[in-house]
Amino acid sequence: MKLLIVEDNFQLADDLSKFLAENGFLVEIADSLHTAFEKISVYNYDLIILDLGLPDGSGLDVIRKLKKINKDPGILIVTAKNAVEDKVTGLELGADDFITKPFHKAELNARVRSIIRRKRLMGNSILQINNIKINTDSREAFVDNNMVELTRKEYDLLLYFMYNKGRVLTKENIAEHLWGDHIDQADNFDFIYNHIKNLRKKLQSFGAGNNIRSVYGMGYKFYEL
Ligand code: CA
Repeated sequence: MKLLIVEDNFQLADDLSKFLAENGFLVEIADSLHTAFEKISVYNYDLIILDLGLPDGSGLDVIRKLKKINKDPGILIVTAKNAVEDKVTGLELGADDFITKPFHKAELNARVRSIIRRKRLMGNSILQINNIKINTDSREAFVDNNMVELTRKEYDLLLYFMYNKGRVLTKENIAEHLWGDHIDQADNFDFIYNHIKNLRKKLQSFGAGNNIRSVYGMGYKFYEL
């Protein structure tokens, strides 16, 4: 899962980003409204952690912008203690939840997970398609209830495929989602093929069907069989 932290306090952003990365997220940072606008226009995120007090404007404009460009990531607003109005406006605009500074990182992590469960995983921490199952809390994958040892990238890839079931994912989509925004400057995306090949091989060696298929000239798709 890919997150964007919009936060102008470098120390806090860096600290949160390291913590969330340890918890299995891919994390990008925007330190101003301007940068946040640029990033959300070009890239996709599963969830945005949004500080409202930014040097060049209000984080609320990020929510307005997302609506305008028809993107619907989860949004967790970070507010100062007495900013009740901001909270209300943010929730009215479509934010999923808020957290008040100062907060414990464990609480932030719990809220992030809960929003992602609601928005991406239909309320479950278990995702199952055919005989392939993922437990997003323990970050484990199973075929017919046998655990399949996956690398971190293979797990992230499988999760990304499964919650985008039936949708074509381009190599660019996959690269950006698993390796981060900077990867769009890569010369080619052939390395993705190897990860997909290994993932398929592992799943099929445990008895999974041919769920992950390439779509000629476009990318890959996870099929429910
Ligand atoms: Ca701030």
